[in-house]
Amino acid sequence: MKAAVIGAGIAGIASSIRLAVTGYAVDVFEANTYPGGKLSTFEHRTSDGGVYRFDAGPSLFTMPDLVDDLFRLAGRNPADYFEYIRLDETCRYFWDDGTRLTAWADHTRFAAEVETVLGEPGQHLLDQLADSALKYDVTEKLFLQKSLHKLGTWLGRDALRGYVNLPKLGVFGTMNAANERRFQHPKLVQLFNRYATYNGSDPYQTPATLNIIPHLEYNIGAFFPKKGMVSITDSLVKLATELGVRFHFNRRVDEIVTEGNRVIGLRATSMNPEDEHPSPSTRPQITTPFDLVVSNMDVVNAFRKLLPHAKQPERILRQPKSSSGLIFYWGIKRTFPELDLHNIFFSNDYRAEFDHLFQQNKLYDDPTIYLNITSKHKADDAPTSCENWFILLNAPNNTGQDWDAVIAEARQNVIRKLSHVLGVDVEPLIETESLLDPRSIEARTSSSQGALYGNSSNNRFAAFLRHANFSHQFENLYFVGGSVHPGGGIPLCLLSAKIATGLIHA
Ligand code: FAD
Repeated sequence: MKAAVIGAGIAGIASSIRLAVTGYAVDVFEANTYPGGKLSTFEHRTSDGGVYRFDAGPSLFTMPDLVDDLFRLAGRNPADYFEYIRLDETCRYFWDDGTRLTAWADHTRFAAEVETVLGEPGQHLLDQLADSALKYDVTEKLFLQKSLHKLGTWLGRDALRGYVNLPKLGVFGTMNAANERRFQHPKLVQLFNRYATYNGSDPYQTPATLNIIPHLEYNIGAFFPKKGMVSITDSLVKLATELGVRFHFNRRVDEIVTEGNRVIGLRATSMNPEDEHPSPSTRPQITTPFDLVVSNMDVVNAFRKLLPHAKQPERILRQPKSSSGLIFYWGIKRTFPELDLHNIFFSNDYRAEFDHLFQQNKLYDDPTIYLNITSKHKADDAPTSCENWFILLNAPNNTGQDWDAVIAEARQNVIRKLSHVLGVDVEPLIETESLLDPRSIEARTSSSQGALYGNSSNNRFAAFLRHANFSHQFENLYFVGGSVHPGGGIPLCLLSAKIATGLIHA
């Protein structure tokens, strides 16, 4: 049996491995010249031969077992391919008023830190983490491991547990309201409200069920791949290739060819890597027959561009998207001992920031800044006495804003804020620079409106309004990746591959 995968994002790669293990001959078609989609890497070179390496997208690695599972599934020892460490410090937090707080992996130490720095009873923190664990325990098997679009999911024991525990899941209130009830100190409310951004949502709208997210970081743990985030992609591509999966880079799929209620093949264009918009009429096109197709392309674009003649599931395709991002990659010619791998510089008005992002489609002029520095753990990611700064601002979706003007203003706001908190003028330290913005995210990975995580979770029905991992119209078409169930982020993308291929084999 021959299977095709459209897109070599993390979910596409994982799907190819799962299919190859069960005997499928698998071809992966990827429009870019490299695998990984958002989970890729690049370098800056300085005039004197220095190299700064950057992970382009994801920087926080949780649930590494889901990666290890793929190696185990193929009968391999994960450590022979991919190594990672568990972090003792999950994040350092900074505020403009000089407050600094470290979130420790060790709960007791973290509780002591919030008591000392903020005067918040440590027990409140422990209660929050226990509540996160409970929410995860009740929902994981139902919402993350299974298709929500199969009747069987709603009749089993896991569903019954979900029904019984519904009042504890926080479905009817917002994350912010729950966190305000739990914590006395507004800075701790802000810290835990931040977890809404882990799937591109707004803590003032998203249900408190999303307080499940800190469970991943504090109870299961935050990790760092020893060779950088891109080694998740690299090691899985290596495994897939060993299993016989054939990757076709530079090959953009333009059409899913259908006949009746079946997919019969794909029509693809060979792309010129220099040209982001090749004209199909001037490029060679090849139609290849397949027994089944797994699409890792953003589901909105998969329907609009590859299946324009099929019935469009409008309600699902029109759901509001998660936030996008504006990323500055800076080579910095100095080191900062007060910074760690993950750092946050909080906005003074979090509510106003989210109002700008989700109501006004704008960036706020005092944005929360996430600063990731992999050279803290992987010294060769920056020249000696230098650091590779990955600076991420939450950004609205691409709806045609004047991005060049927005970016110029945001850059000044970032420099002003970092310089103030760190007590040093940051701008002269920037040795190399590049940028990713909602437009380029959309162009490079086909994400609708540049969304980082597919749909937002800004309402309590969001989980049910992501597209299923299978097609309702074509019996041999499946969907994986951040735009479909169970959602965005590396762990959920890996789970989407598990659910989709599980349906194929069922
Ligand atoms: P994508 O990465 O979206 O890739 C899809 C691939 O399909 C692309 O390579 C594209 O070229 C290809 N493709 C699309 N259409 C076609 C076609 N027609 N023909 C051929 N190829 C096609 N997640 C985390 O877990 N932790 C984080 O810290 C984190 N931070 C992030 C920061 C940023 C800046 C970004 C951008 C994302 C972040 N994420 C994070 C989210 C995470 O990166 C994504 O959820 C995940 O990588 C998406 O994977 P995917 O499988 O959906 O594929």
